[in-house]
Amino acid sequence: MAAGKRISCILIDLSGTLHVENQVIAGSIEALDRLRRTNLKLRFVTNTTKESKRLLVDRLNNLGFGVRTEEIFTSLTAAKIMVLKNNIRPMLMLQPEAREDFQDVPTSNPNGVLVGLSPDSFNYQTMNEAFRILGNAGSLIAVHKGRYYKTLEGLSLGPGPFVSALEYATGVEAKVVGKPQSNFFQSALESVDGLADETIMIGDDIRDDIGGAQAIGMRGILVKTGKYREGDESAHGIKPFAVCDKFVDAVDMIIELL
Ligand SMILES: [Mg+2]
Repeated sequence: MAAGKRISCILIDLSGTLHVENQVIAGSIEALDRLRRTNLKLRFVTNTTKESKRLLVDRLNNLGFGVRTEEIFTSLTAAKIMVLKNNIRPMLMLQPEAREDFQDVPTSNPNGVLVGLSPDSFNYQTMNEAFRILGNAGSLIAVHKGRYYKTLEGLSLGPGPFVSALEYATGVEAKVVGKPQSNFFQSALESVDGLADETIMIGDDIRDDIGGAQAIGMRGILVKTGKYREGDESAHGIKPFAVCDKFVDAVDMIIELL
């Protein structure tokens, strides 16, 4: 393993790395506390589109992680940065629980469409409204393009198919903002004033977490929890900086490298 490179910042995935639904992955709370006692900068990075930061923080803290709102960087945060930078007044295809992150974003007379996972918005009337905005030279922004996801009742459609439907109808290509996009990791780094080559990303997704982070020069530690499947570390042409059984082992390794 390449040692000696400075480490000043750690990015941490949430679901599958610290917890799975409402179950804490063993040792994660104590390991996070230990990581906090170092001087490393921390950010939690997630592709969630279903809920606002405030609700996410409440959920994490109910599990026992002491997390502050400003430490979390979500794909909704990245979407908001993109919307503001490009003067887009988006029609929000987001669930009510996610909208509060956009309270201070102008949305009247929309010149763009922002799509997250929003079952309430995925109907003919709302899709048609979005179609008309895009036909009028509007921008299309996708929080991510996930095809489907796991729910208690089985697999369910993600936002990807609905984004693709709008692209198909209008010929407008969506700008995608979540992991593994380089922009996402770049914005997360900027939010903590971090440098890519001094940053380690810890996550359970070889493509979205490790591939995305390493593409801009970070080091990625793949953990074998959450969505990890046997052989992921050698699949997809991505070679993680390191592979650990769990978050707690990743923290042990980082502290040893300091
Ligand atoms: Mg994950």
